[in-house]
Amino acid sequence: MFVPVNEPVITAEAKAYVNEAMDSGWISSAGKYIEEFEKEFATFLGVKHAVTATSGTAAIHLALATLNVGPGDEVIVPDFTMMGSVLPVLYCGATPVFVDAEAETFNIDPNLIEAKITKKTKAIMPVHLYGHSAEMDQILAIAKKHSLPVIEDAAEVHGATYKGRMCGSMGELGCFSFYANKIITTGEGGMLVTNDDLLAARARVLKDLAHSAKKRFWHEEMGFNYRMTNLQAAVGLGQLQHVDEFLEKKQWMAERYREGLGGIKHLRLPITKEYAKNVYWMYGVLLEEGFPLTRDALRAALKERGVDTRDFFYSSASQPLLKHLPSAKESFPVSTMLSERGFYLPSGLALTEEQIQYVCDSLRAVAA
Ligand SMILES: *Cc1c(COP(=O)(O)O)cnc(C)c1O
Repeated sequence: MFVPVNEPVITAEAKAYVNEAMDSGWISSAGKYIEEFEKEFATFLGVKHAVTATSGTAAIHLALATLNVGPGDEVIVPDFTMMGSVLPVLYCGATPVFVDAEAETFNIDPNLIEAKITKKTKAIMPVHLYGHSAEMDQILAIAKKHSLPVIEDAAEVHGATYKGRMCGSMGELGCFSFYANKIITTGEGGMLVTNDDLLAARARVLKDLAHSAKKRFWHEEMGFNYRMTNLQAAVGLGQLQHVDEFLEKKQWMAERYREGLGGIKHLRLPITKEYAKNVYWMYGVLLEEGFPLTRDALRAALKERGVDTRDFFYSSASQPLLKHLPSAKESFPVSTMLSERGFYLPSGLALTEEQIQYVCDSLRAVAA
């Protein structure tokens, strides 16, 4: 048996719509699926505007550019995250300032944010990791106190909630990814969401090369080509129409894992806080002190049995690219611990009961 870490489910609607888009000739970024996908995604999140982009990373860059983040500015980001959150800060010529994680949810520790705010801070970017919301009330209160906008990196949490509110809908701007392993996919793609009319309008200009409002092909400021194609939007719409099933499948997966892995000593299963609806984008586990194997040895043993897994992200401060940053000189003990002890199990939407059972049995056998 081989169990891949991710295998997507492509719906019949996605296939039908993409063919329809092909036949219609609308294969670039004009076409009805762009508008429909944006409308449906905005409805799903309960926000006013959804703006398609070419990737989650592009959506985050667009969010920062829309807020005029530039050289000399600082943006507060979690140290423990995927580089797609951090690189766009560098694209803007701004400086990421890292904050350590909380051990339970892996998300940015809200108690450590305020100490990192300076006169140069331009935005706060919480990232909701592996399906679980960050502690948003605390983050939003700090942002409000300092009059700073919040950009939510919601790339991994389509449908997750914080106290009943949709992740991605609580800050000034929210960013989603539609990469193949995300809960909704368009192959590659992203979405920027907001309730602010002006920010939405500005994002639409910037993502389309920033033609001047007065004259087309005339440019007064920096723009980008971050236009999603109608073909991708057709796939996204077909996938989005099944989001409830996908989210149910994720709950079912987490339940099967919890049953199948229960009682294995020093293996920490995901913790869901009372404020969160966890969508288990990836089923991440931690090896605590006392587990009989190292993380790498365990992953290798699982690989031998055909079970594909992935390491957690690295501490941003440890990245060769980022080592020169002032903020990277600090220590991030929780983030470092997570990057050394965490990994995730196969979590794709195509997982079968037999596969999950096999993963659990394999892990139990290897750990014994
Ligand atoms: C996937 C992801 C991104 C980047 O999205 P892409 O579509 O791959 O560019 C950004 N942040 C987080 C947390 C992600 O998981």
